[in-house]
Amino acid sequence: MNVSKILNRLKGIKPSCFIPFFFHLLLFFSQVSTAEWYTHEFDVMGTRASIELWSDSKVNAQDSFSIVEAEMHRIELVMSSYREDSELSAVNRLQAHRSLTLTSELYQLIQKSLYFSELSNGAFDITYASVGHLYNYRDRIQPDKHHIQSALALVDWQSVLLNKKTQALTFAREGMEINLGGIAKGYAVDRSIDLLVARGVVSAIVSAGGDSRMIGDRGAVFNREGVALEDDAEVNEKTKRIPWMVGIKHPRQDKGTALRMPLMDTAISTSGDYERYFLRGDERVHHIINPKTGYSAEGVVSASVIGSKSIDCDVLSTTLFVLGVEAGIDLINTIDGYDAVMIDKFGKVFFSQGLGE
Ligand code: ADP
Ligand code: MG
Repeated sequence: MNVSKILNRLKGIKPSCFIPFFFHLLLFFSQVSTAEWYTHEFDVMGTRASIELWSDSKVNAQDSFSIVEAEMHRIELVMSSYREDSELSAVNRLQAHRSLTLTSELYQLIQKSLYFSELSNGAFDITYASVGHLYNYRDRIQPDKHHIQSALALVDWQSVLLNKKTQALTFAREGMEINLGGIAKGYAVDRSIDLLVARGVVSAIVSAGGDSRMIGDRGAVFNREGVALEDDAEVNEKTKRIPWMVGIKHPRQDKGTALRMPLMDTAISTSGDYERYFLRGDERVHHIINPKTGYSAEGVVSASVIGSKSIDCDVLSTTLFVLGVEAGIDLINTIDGYDAVMIDKFGKVFFSQGLGE
């Protein structure tokens, strides 16, 4: 009910009881108005990150922003392949058969990467970097087929050896490289969400490039505190909650949206061939590499994965992109709690079982 309706109802009431009631009303509205949505954006890990959260004070919101921003920069310092001083770069300088003890954070990320390599029969493979580093999208450089062929011998996730006891990594082949571009942003989003939850945040969305995760819904606030609905809010009839409306980018229209999905308490990641690419005649040379061929993966233009953890969504969106529609949807249908939307090169949209038609 809005204020004018309330005041209309109050018209017949005697002034003596009207004043204290009205005073209460004012008090109620002044309390509510201190809480609101706060947003913050910054650059990290070669992309744009954003946070939107509901907070009862600006100071609290800004503290949350600083903490999340610092955490994402810290993760970048560990996992960047551009920075010489990152732990990842130290790994990539390793000679074959030598070993390097890793921080448990990096160890676990590499272990997870290898797990998904096995699950996807090598479609997701952080050693793609052995050939991937020969590409330069900004300068429109694609390696020639001889270079691709010889580098392909070094693309092999089974040649990354992890020693559980010593937490050390060894490469079985000389000249191998790894890159965590397909997992690090999802991990950073999960870490950010954990930090926000620990600070008592109940409604938030954190994004880093194509990876997003939400705490709660868009309307927890409405239900709790009586704040007015936004114009585009859609109430879920079953739960009476108001989901976030998350758009999947139109793969061929700069600012367009292919579809919008109502989501809450979940993560979503999208991998697209429009993020980093250049055109060479009809060929689109882009940043998702098929580890079997050494060339950009073909057939899919966009793969989105929805599920509880951003790290898994991130890895799986890249994985499905490489696998293609048929094998990709088959794989996601075997993973509990995870769903996918894929768009093929003809613009046809495919959904996993959990999303139905
Ligand atoms: P982004 O969000 O950076 O656009 P994606 O989630 O779509 O990225 O993953 C693409 C990134 O993953 C690439 O930029 C690269 O760093 C890495 N990558 C590319 N191909 C593979 C692959 N086959 N396996 C693992 N990682 C890959
Ligand atoms: Mg990804």
